[in-house]
Amino acid sequence: MISTLLYRIQAFPRWHAIGVGSLTVLMLLLTLWPATSESVIVEIPASLQLQSSPPAGDTADSFSQVAAEVRPGDTLSTLFERAGAGVSVLYRMLADDDISQSLDRIYPGQSFSFGFDSTEALREVTFSESQMVQHRITLGDEGFEIEQIVREPEIHTRFTQGTIDTSLYLAGKNAGLSDNMIMELATLFGWDIDFVLDIRAGDSFSLIYEEHFLDGKKLSDGPILAARFTNQGRDVTAIRYSDAGGRTDYYSPNGDSIRKAFLRTPMDVFRISSGFNLSRRHPVLNTIRAHRGTDYAAPTGTPIKVTGDGKVISARRSSSYGNVVVVQHGGGMRTLYAHMNQFSRYARVGNRVSQGQIIGYVGSTGLATGPHLHYEFLVNGVHRNPQTVPLPTAQPLAEEYLPAFQDFASNMMGQLDVFNGNYAQANSD
Ligand SMILES: [Zn+2]
Repeated sequence: MISTLLYRIQAFPRWHAIGVGSLTVLMLLLTLWPATSESVIVEIPASLQLQSSPPAGDTADSFSQVAAEVRPGDTLSTLFERAGAGVSVLYRMLADDDISQSLDRIYPGQSFSFGFDSTEALREVTFSESQMVQHRITLGDEGFEIEQIVREPEIHTRFTQGTIDTSLYLAGKNAGLSDNMIMELATLFGWDIDFVLDIRAGDSFSLIYEEHFLDGKKLSDGPILAARFTNQGRDVTAIRYSDAGGRTDYYSPNGDSIRKAFLRTPMDVFRISSGFNLSRRHPVLNTIRAHRGTDYAAPTGTPIKVTGDGKVISARRSSSYGNVVVVQHGGGMRTLYAHMNQFSRYARVGNRVSQGQIIGYVGSTGLATGPHLHYEFLVNGVHRNPQTVPLPTAQPLAEEYLPAFQDFASNMMGQLDVFNGNYAQANSD
């Protein structure tokens, strides 16, 4: 129960993955879209990163550049001829293995640049492999040289904030966030907030995140650097931090991991068909029998994730549980996954498994009326309700890194406060 809404949100942009639960959100989107937008995106003075310098040619002012784009049907020879470079130099270049390899695949739209010296001899060929990677061939008196130029995107830091009216998805859209960023935000706070049960109109979020640009065009979103979610008046803050040991994670201001040691649910798309209930009538046996787990109905073949890091201690076929896997975790905790159609390759006794790894696929083996996962959570041998059991947090920040982190965290929280303040002021004017 990290929240079905979270999973609906995650499933939304992937049309093939929309499950039962997605339909309500989909309907919401269809009926409410487009919503009025009140978003204000404040651009933070960017910490501009160095861009790679343009091809450094001959310093002589007579150095000239000819640009040529690969057209459909072009070969290297037609391209070189069009640029006035001639084919004999091309054949000499192609004798070099590195060069011929890098020129192996040209594609329409790919851009080349040819540099000529004052005697109109070809001195340099530059071409892009992708937006980020370029190659430069230098033709010197001693021969050819090829080098790879990897471009660094320009990083802009942005602040935005939103207030929830109907759903996190819509509020995120109104705040100018991409689907990916909304998912990231939902995943980040999904550990703490149940987006079905806890969310209220008026809940709000604010975040500082990176955007990556190349040549003035947005390439991608970078990570969320800091975010705050206010849920029914309670603030949850997540700060991204890389410690001196090289580990990067999201932490609460006191240095606890924002993540939990266990996922609340072992599947992305599901419907809870039977909850934890100590006096339930068994659907197959028709007797009163405690239901010591949670049933997640999902189509046969739906992947099942291990909810926490651990070790497989059992992977077998039982008459009641069908294909069942038991994983032993630290702290005396165990999880059990039953009625599987099929085990994954990780489901072998003795195997170490990590949180989120696929352990098997939904089925209806054993005593089951239809395809579902029966999931149990045991603490020191005692069955607990997986939907409500308090989950331990994942590994906190190591104590030695705490002082540096606290400085960093208070700086980031200060920034969130300032931007939130500016935003409030801008909106009241
Ligand atoms: Zn069950």
